[in-house]
Amino acid sequence: MAEAYGPAPIRSICVFCGANPGTHPRHVAAATATGTTLAERGIRVVYGGGRLGLMGAVADAALAAGGEVVGVIPRGLVDRELAHPGLSELRIVETLHERKAQMADLADAFVTLPGGLGTLEELAEVLSWAQLDLHAKPIGLLDVGGYFSALEAFLDRAVAEGFVAERHRRLLLRDDDLDELLARFGAWEPPTGRFARPRPVDRPTT
Ligand code: AMP
Repeated sequence: MAEAYGPAPIRSICVFCGANPGTHPRHVAAATATGTTLAERGIRVVYGGGRLGLMGAVADAALAAGGEVVGVIPRGLVDRELAHPGLSELRIVETLHERKAQMADLADAFVTLPGGLGTLEELAEVLSWAQLDLHAKPIGLLDVGGYFSALEAFLDRAVAEGFVAERHRRLLLRDDDLDELLARFGAWEPPTGRFARPRPVDRPTT
């Protein structure tokens, strides 16, 4: 059988986003569109398991479109964040660290929507893990209404001032359109490192 090269198919996406809905209606609209699109494409949604805010909007929309949605929530947050009662699967874990680890393991890629400190922390973790070659999964920023422009500017400055390598800066794929972001995921190759997939030119000549 011919060996397959190039990006692995994306069957499962982890969505990081706010537990609040935000003040502008475009945020809930983008979260709803994200859930619908992922479900329609047959991509499983993995997220934090809550039913509030953008998290709930993504899950509700994906479920309404017939999609599979897996939530991962720490026991201590089941009541506080109101665990979603209608998910395909709700995994209850003990800690926030376990939550992130399971979410990352269950996903082939990550999409970050607008959110607050939790969202920022989750995004920073998967980016820094990619930088260390601990995973090789594409990471996207859905920049709804320019919400993340200050974060983008910070990352550019971190490159300019020598704290982030240009190739690591490129780990974060930004777009304001989910379909574009997904298309870029499909073509994405990890920069270097032990997870870099072999290219045809690297094949051993036996
Ligand atoms: P926020 O962006 O602050 O609305 O938070 C979004 C989600 O991130 C919520 O489900 C939070 O429980 C979650 N969260 C916050 N901090 C962490 C953390 N350190 N590790 C994992 N999840 C977190």
